[in-house]
Amino acid sequence: MTKRVAVTGGCGFLGSHLCEKLLSTGCEVLCIDNCYSSTKASIYHLQDHPRFESLRHDITFPLYIEVDEIYDLACPPSPIHYQRDPVQTIKTCIHGAINMLGLAKRIKARILQASTSEVYGDPEIHPQPEDYWGRVNPIGIRSCYDEGKRCAETLFFDYHRQHGLDVKIARIFNTYGPRMQPDDGRVVSNFIVQAIYNRDLTVYGDGSQTRSFCYVDDLIDCLIRLMDAQATLSGPVNLGNPEEISIMVLADAEICETGTTAKVITKPLPDDDRLRRKPDIRPAGEMLPWKPSTTIEDGLKSTVSHFRTLAEDHHGKRDGLR
Ligand code: UDP
Repeated sequence: MTKRVAVTGGCGFLGSHLCEKLLSTGCEVLCIDNCYSSTKASIYHLQDHPRFESLRHDITFPLYIEVDEIYDLACPPSPIHYQRDPVQTIKTCIHGAINMLGLAKRIKARILQASTSEVYGDPEIHPQPEDYWGRVNPIGIRSCYDEGKRCAETLFFDYHRQHGLDVKIARIFNTYGPRMQPDDGRVVSNFIVQAIYNRDLTVYGDGSQTRSFCYVDDLIDCLIRLMDAQATLSGPVNLGNPEEISIMVLADAEICETGTTAKVITKPLPDDDRLRRKPDIRPAGEMLPWKPSTTIEDGLKSTVSHFRTLAEDHHGKRDGLR
C-alpha cells in the first residue's frame, strides 16, 4: 500500500527536498506550510506530480488529516526569520508540536520532529553527543527558537512515555545546498550571493568560530532512514556532518569556488553567536546506519551552481538576489 506522508514546513529548504525525495520513493506526499518564511516556488516543480498535494496551513491551529507518517519541520530556522516574530516562533514550536502530536495520536501515525543542534546552546562539550543537556540562554534573542525546540522535544517524549506514540527526534546541524533562500542570512548562502555579485564577504567576529556543514542530500537521506528505523529507536539522534570548518576558511573556500574578486571584511559578532559546533554522529552511524558522503568542495560546487542559475534567471530579482 502507498505510504501517505505529511511534511509540515514542506515549502522550506529541507522540506522541499524531503517532499521530492519521498515522492521518488513512491510515497503520497502532503506538503503543509503557511509560507511565513518560505515560498511556494520551492515546490512548483512538484505541483503536477500525481502523488503530491499541498495545503496552506499554520500548524499552530489544529489539523485533521489521515496519513501514516508526519515529518514536523515547520518553523523558520534562520535567526533573521525566527527573530522577526519570536512569539509566533515559539508558538509554532510548541503549539505546532502539540497539534501534530495530538493528530499522530488520533490517527496512530509515526511522527518525526526536526529538532536542532541549537538545543545544545553554546556548548562546553565538543563534539556534542546526544546525552549532553546543553547550555542554553533562556532569555536571549535566540531563545524563542532554542527553547521552543527543546520544549517540543519534551512534548515528543511525554507523548511517547504517556501515550506510547512512535516518535523520532532528529537534531539537525547546519545544513546547506540548493534552494537555500538567498536572503535568509545563513553563512553559506550569504557568502555565495556576495561572491557572485563581487561584494565583500561579511565574516562576523574574527571568523575563528566553527561550524560543521552537511550537504542537503546527505541530511535528507538520513532523515528518512531515521523515520524508517525500528520503533524502539526513539531517543534524539544527531544528524549532520562532523567535518568542522572555521567561518574564515569557509569564506576562503567560497572565494575560491566562485572565482570572485571580492575580499573578506569583518563585522561585529551577533549576540548569542556560538563559538563551536560539531555533531557526534556515532549513534546515527551505528543505528541507521548512515554517514554523510558529500565533501564541502562538492557541496559548495552544486550550491554555487544553483545560485548562479538563480542569478541568471530574471526570477532572481524577485527572489532577493539583487
Ligand atoms: N556568519 C558570518 N557571516 C555571515 C553570516 C553568518 O560570519 O554573513 C557567521 C555567524 O556569525 C555564525 C556562523 O557564520 O558564527 C554560522 O551562521 P549561520 O547563521 O549560518 O548558522 P548558525 O549560527 O545558526 O549556526
